[in-house]
Amino acid sequence: MTKTANNADLHCHSTRSDGLLSPADLVRRAQGNGVDLLALTDHDELGGLPEARATATELGLAFIDGVEISVSWGEDTTVHIVALNIDPANASLIQGLTQVRAGRDARARDMAAELDKVGIHGCYEGALAYVGNPALVGRAHFARYMVEQGLARDVKSVFDHWLAKGKPGYVAHPWASLEQALTWIQGAGGIAVLAHPGRFRLSAAEFRQLLEQFKALGGQAIEVLSGAHNTQQTGEFARLARQFDFAASRASDFHGPGESWMDIGKLPPLPEGLRPVWELF
Ligand code: AMP
Ligand code: MN
Ligand code: MN
Ligand code: MN
Repeated sequence: MTKTANNADLHCHSTRSDGLLSPADLVRRAQGNGVDLLALTDHDELGGLPEARATATELGLAFIDGVEISVSWGEDTTVHIVALNIDPANASLIQGLTQVRAGRDARARDMAAELDKVGIHGCYEGALAYVGNPALVGRAHFARYMVEQGLARDVKSVFDHWLAKGKPGYVAHPWASLEQALTWIQGAGGIAVLAHPGRFRLSAAEFRQLLEQFKALGGQAIEVLSGAHNTQQTGEFARLARQFDFAASRASDFHGPGESWMDIGKLPPLPEGLRPVWELF
């Protein structure tokens, strides 16, 4: 099943992780913005896919099942691997993601305890009110609660002051290993894509090492276009995709109106001379 697309957007989030729109509303917005091939990729979670697919089918929009897996790499670096075109009924993938999600509640309690120490209280309950399910709670929910409390003007400032690595509310956490993530994705018949490489805080040497390992484990694509990338980064990752023979993805990483780098479906075309990842579906 080779897919063609003029406006593919293969990375976004719904209320089943840290997005602001329900899966159905997200799909409607994507179609309204001209997306013609869409993947929903909630963090470590497949629960939004049936609703998204049903809405996409109703609207005649081509839909790909996806998930964004949290991975711990090296000393204490978190990287994200987007899985595309997976079988959401695959037992080992489901089991693996359940395991990854199981750590979120304890991590959130630890984060709240750290924030208590700097005089910011009620964050665990506050964050939970934004997501409902302790297995899905993440830093974006903390950030929304902290904005609501008037601690900062927007979510990004909360990350800059409290939640990013090295800040008082940051708690190191063991996610899946790169090898586990790739094994689950391949077992579920999916394509592994390195998400928003421009956001990883790695040295050039470490980054090359990550690309080499990812390639050796069967990784097939990288997000050349990401809502989080500037033009210079897009050029740099296009070059690396050619050099490592990775396919290229288009990925807004949309989380919700007013809270994202870029709206869904608003990415520029892929740079020349790259193989679009959707040709592998
Ligand atoms: P978690 O999986 O709980 O560590 O949360 C990761 C999520 O936090 C990302 O997917 C983004 O939605 C959000 N995030 C991370 N860094 C930032 C940032 N600097 N500004 C805004 N949101 C961020
Ligand atoms: Mn997120
Ligand atoms: Mn991510
Ligand atoms: Mn994402």
